[in-house]
Amino acid sequence: MYALSRALYKDISRYTSREQVNPAHGTNRAQVLSACEETMERVAEDWRYFHDPERYLFEQIRPYFPITEQLRVFNLIDRHVEMAIKVAKTYAARGFKPDGTRLRCRATTRRSTPCVRNIVPGTEYCPSHQHLAEPHFDQPRRSIAEAQQADAA
Ligand SMILES: [Zn+2]
Repeated sequence: MYALSRALYKDISRYTSREQVNPAHGTNRAQVLSACEETMERVAEDWRYFHDPERYLFEQIRPYFPITEQLRVFNLIDRHVEMAIKVAKTYAARGFKPDGTRLRCRATTRRSTPCVRNIVPGTEYCPSHQHLAEPHFDQPRRSIAEAQQADAA
């Protein structure tokens, strides 16, 4: 994920404003870099529960870009985040995070501690907690147009 975050930063950093937006917190580029890393790490850790990461990141860093470059920057973020989610999904299907560590069960035990067992690949839970798995997981979301068509039919 580090490589993906660097690739994103490399693509967008050239468009940052020359004028320092928030000098007390470092240069525009330094702030863009740390926001990219934070978002990509969260995608790696928790992509299933991170809604619209591309929008989240864009909102964080848009002040560092001139308005004339913002659409271009958003499109670049969108493309890179989509790639990162694909990578995370590929690892998750085998039971791993992109950093190579095992995905742990999301359940909480009766003692209120997190379950530490490995997941069944392709699910979010260990064998004992499979009953908690949500059936709608990983189904593609319908677009508004599709939903309207389905309702009209
Ligand atoms: Zn479990």
